[in-house]
Amino acid sequence: MSQPTPDTYEDGRGMDAHNEVMREIRARNDDTYDPTEPTRVWLDEDNTPDGVYQSLTIILNTGGCRWARAGGCTMCGYVAESVEGGSVGHENLMTQIQHCLDHEADNADEKAGLIKIYTSGSFLDEREIPAETRAAIAETFADRDRMVVESLPDFVDREKVADFTDRGLETDVAIGLETATDRVRHDAVNKYFDFAEFEDACVEAQATGAGVKAYLLLKPPFLAEPDAVEDMKRSVRRCAAADGCHTVSMNPCNVQRHTMVEELYHDGGYRPPWLWSVCDVLEATADEDVIVVSDPVGHGSDRGPHNCGECDDLVQRAIKDFNLRQDPSVFEEVDCECTATWEYVMENETAYNQPLVN
Ligand code: SF4
Ligand SMILES: [Zn+2]
Repeated sequence: MSQPTPDTYEDGRGMDAHNEVMREIRARNDDTYDPTEPTRVWLDEDNTPDGVYQSLTIILNTGGCRWARAGGCTMCGYVAESVEGGSVGHENLMTQIQHCLDHEADNADEKAGLIKIYTSGSFLDEREIPAETRAAIAETFADRDRMVVESLPDFVDREKVADFTDRGLETDVAIGLETATDRVRHDAVNKYFDFAEFEDACVEAQATGAGVKAYLLLKPPFLAEPDAVEDMKRSVRRCAAADGCHTVSMNPCNVQRHTMVEELYHDGGYRPPWLWSVCDVLEATADEDVIVVSDPVGHGSDRGPHNCGECDDLVQRAIKDFNLRQDPSVFEEVDCECTATWEYVMENETAYNQPLVN
């Protein structure tokens, strides 16, 4: 695979040092992927402002995130799933969509009401998904109820979102905000935009009648457990107060391959968050005027959010239950001796002694 290089778009953005390290780490990956196959596709159910829907989630295999090519976010390994050469054309993208429809027809009794499309980058970036493909995808799913497309805030504009809303689809733009705190987003995550740009994207989405779903990251590198939890509670509250943002997906960081987080993890400098921290944030923000859900990917494993190993599945089930019901009492039913260790970490872990416990 060729060395990722920054182009003019990325110049002067993000932290140069982070980008340099991330470019070096990503360059070690030489896997490539078939441009006619989606990265992943699966069926699930999801909580939306209109209730719980059967969903079809699609991760399209595109040229990948342009920010990741510059180095990009410290925890994100998605670019490693991109195709060699950096772009996938209309025909191949539509073949991927057909593959997803076939998967749905083979595995579900009826068509999903909710379609979620991610691209390991930005669906609304026309270098990843050309305008022609965006319109064709909107047409393909025009008979469904709801659509979610993921994008960085700078690519969100009303004309693009209108491709979906004009076809009668309730549309949400999913934005990887990660945190409402600019300093944490810039210095720990290495994302280049400010909260104000997220708010601008909310305005653009709202202008077409679309909504915004914010993705937050619990415990980026360099934050101790208690600081990460505080940052998340504050972030959920700021998202709830942002006009147009009706849902927060608060996702605990996991250790992905070819990332700075993975380097830190191997050197004893990073532990993914405790599942108790996830519960704590969900419980503390349950009264906010926003749906808050969390999907602890890799729960119970060393590289994913975890507790002691005994209670992880139980706590994960409570979180899933909370996602659908938004009722914090689900957490009253889970307990384990390891809460004492987590409480100790919450009282004593600091950025310079972390991780205090593995
Ligand atoms: S988290 Fe999003 S913006 Fe950051 S490198 Fe990954 S795909 Fe790109
Ligand atoms: Zn436990």
